[in-house]
Amino acid sequence: MTKLVPLFALVLFLLPLATTRAQTPEDFAEMWEKSHVSNIFPSNVRHADVKQYLEKMKSLGIKIEQVGLSYGNREIYQMEWGNGPLRVFMWSQMHGDEPTATSALFDMFAYLKTHEDDEWVKNFAAKFTIRAIPMLNPDGSELYQRYNLQGIDINRDAVALKTPEGQLLKKLRDDWAPNIGFNLHNQQELTAAGPFARQAAISFLAVRGNKEGITSAGHERNKRICAAMVLALNRFIRGNIGRYDEDYNGRAFGDNFSAWGTPVILIETGALSGKDEMFLVKLNFVAFFAGLQSIVDGTEQSLSPSNYELLPLNTSGRLVWWMFRGVSIVNPGPGNRPFNTDIAVNKLRRRESQPVIASVAAIGSLGGLTGLEEYDASDFYVFPRLDRIRIGSPAELLFYRKSRTVDWNSDNLETAFPPDAVFSEGKWTVGENAVPKKK
Ligand SMILES: [Zn+2]
Repeated sequence: MTKLVPLFALVLFLLPLATTRAQTPEDFAEMWEKSHVSNIFPSNVRHADVKQYLEKMKSLGIKIEQVGLSYGNREIYQMEWGNGPLRVFMWSQMHGDEPTATSALFDMFAYLKTHEDDEWVKNFAAKFTIRAIPMLNPDGSELYQRYNLQGIDINRDAVALKTPEGQLLKKLRDDWAPNIGFNLHNQQELTAAGPFARQAAISFLAVRGNKEGITSAGHERNKRICAAMVLALNRFIRGNIGRYDEDYNGRAFGDNFSAWGTPVILIETGALSGKDEMFLVKLNFVAFFAGLQSIVDGTEQSLSPSNYELLPLNTSGRLVWWMFRGVSIVNPGPGNRPFNTDIAVNKLRRRESQPVIASVAAIGSLGGLTGLEEYDASDFYVFPRLDRIRIGSPAELLFYRKSRTVDWNSDNLETAFPPDAVFSEGKWTVGENAVPKKK
């Protein structure tokens, strides 16, 4: 009998450790790596793909309901998981060309459903009921545009309610009165975190919901939840996280949800040079779990909101996609003398599957701009394949070493004088490493 006591004590001691060890951000990332169901780049996901994902969710046993129709009569669905008292409402892609979180929501629901026997997932289920609308704006998503089919910005329709999608979102909130809302968007890929031209891979806003600047318990709680998400994401993208200022917008859903009693957290996914869209899905997944976990384990209550409040504010206008420094431009036609300058090139936001449309964004001494890719083109002439090199012209660029003699008036320039490098549709199609990359 006396021999059993130490063993018994040991079991008692180890049991809580085994069952309550907090999941780390790295654990969440690994969970996503091993289990994610999203298998196409979010920007390529169409409404038909959402339906496929939903079939998968249904087969796992997740509650799915068609809750409405878009203006163009596409189905809008809601997923539900958990049976706890805290009502969490998440919606994605109210702007059609902002797709990252839609995939992350499917990954989150699938993970929770397939791991319901894990102790910590049981704690989630006992704490939360989570409802999510993946792709609130299926018509806009189909066209890969911000607006719905009426051309209205749903996120400016919270009061006028001219869109069926906006009406639906308000109704779902009013009928259920969620305790927390997650408003899931994508920001411009060239958004910077702070003044130093660092890309904001993700930005947050705990929405206050009134123009007087009065805070509330829910707003303060959401700042701490944001802090939990920031601390988790710091493990992967420290320095690439931004914050929006709290400008009140009386027509936006985030502000109105907060005013109606559902304090909202805005998450805006950006981009990170060298990382693909799936990396951003993973970051969303990590952020969702880290934020929710902080509520379950109570760490949210003791976290300092400063982890969120001290994030650098988002800035824009400092970053461009490509920068060619010190290049000598030669334009076609008589009397065009080469001149030495910088060229900045940007591209449109499109689906990953679509060809890149890149155009000249600026010409001149562009010391105030930073390219995500910077090239030292000082040993090169650049000649336009199309048009002239001017702001707005297609960035179809032929590069020639200055040591060469080229007849710029040649009828068939590219055949008669093959370029050393060609930049076309946002990539090098000839001479990949000819023009040296800076940094
Ligand atoms: Zn948006």
